[in-house]
Amino acid sequence: MPSMSTGKLKPYAAHAEQSRGRTHTEPASQNRTEFQRDRDRIIHSTAFRRLEYKTQVFVNHEGDLFRTRLTHSLEVAQIGRSVARNLGLNEDLVEAISLAHDLGHTPFGHAGQDALNLCMKKHGGFEHNLQSLRVVDELEERYGGFDGLNLCFETREGILKHCSLKNARKLGEIGERFIQRQQPSLEAQLANLADEIAYNNHDIDDGLRSGLLQLDQMMTVSLFARHVKPVLKAFPKINERRLILETVRRIINTLIVDLVETTQKNIRNLAPESLEDVRQAPPLISFSTEMRTEATAIKQFLHANLYQHYQVERMSNKAKRIVSELFNALYEQPRLLPPDYQRRGEQDLARTIADYIAGMTDRYAILEHRRLFAIDVV
Ligand code: MG
Repeated sequence: MPSMSTGKLKPYAAHAEQSRGRTHTEPASQNRTEFQRDRDRIIHSTAFRRLEYKTQVFVNHEGDLFRTRLTHSLEVAQIGRSVARNLGLNEDLVEAISLAHDLGHTPFGHAGQDALNLCMKKHGGFEHNLQSLRVVDELEERYGGFDGLNLCFETREGILKHCSLKNARKLGEIGERFIQRQQPSLEAQLANLADEIAYNNHDIDDGLRSGLLQLDQMMTVSLFARHVKPVLKAFPKINERRLILETVRRIINTLIVDLVETTQKNIRNLAPESLEDVRQAPPLISFSTEMRTEATAIKQFLHANLYQHYQVERMSNKAKRIVSELFNALYEQPRLLPPDYQRRGEQDLARTIADYIAGMTDRYAILEHRRLFAIDVV
């Protein structure tokens, strides 16, 4: 059998050959580890391709330079992989989880998710994390023998980063850890923090680029101010665009260095010897207390000044209306659904409509709304 290089994995990393396996047993691959295979399945999925036309803060047609969920997921994977290599963790698993973590997001970011959750209130709610799992477990249709992508337990566990106890009880093995209050693998913990590092920093960049945030406003955020000064000192004539990018890349580096050092310290202190030990321990992948405070300050700043900016609110308001009007129209009149969804809707209409809407890209949702409501559109 050809050698499957997994690098120098630490004993507490997730080892592909010790995976808890897939729901449907499949023969091992000749040339890839099980986690490489998961990553590849995710990249080839339909939901992954749709991430290109889904957004978190800005709507897809607002500009070509802003992050989409696809570029966001790639940035998360990049940060995740580089930290994983430093810590001797499984890069393939971190990459797979990072690339899949947003697959269940609705169109129009959080506004879309809130609206769909409200529509689904009487039907079990809608949660993007659970939906990501649903995409890889059930909704992708590409294999002859099963629905979904049939991913490994460890990848699925990483995708489901939050879950209410009520839902956890319905999920069986994958929900267990929320009931037992255990941690997921270090790779899953890492993908989660890589997500936070990525979105905080790219939202600063996109926020400034769009003109919704101003540089002097950013100077009130200590982590930002602390990194701007040395850049200005080194490059006094630098233009604003480069100043922002130089600053942001230095912030990302500071966060990553802190994350690696703090995690190494946590690992030394708790000395886990296996993935099982990791599950029983408190979260080991973390920022230092000081850096946690600074990272949270960025988050709060972005909430107050970008996500709640009146221009973003105006768009969010439209997005919510599109999602809820689509839902209500389809729920009242299921015959408006495409035939395959009509058939599936016979089992659970509300959930089928939620799946249909959640799968839409921003522009598809806008178009579908027009098709249903504008009298002059076919
Ligand atoms: Mg994300």
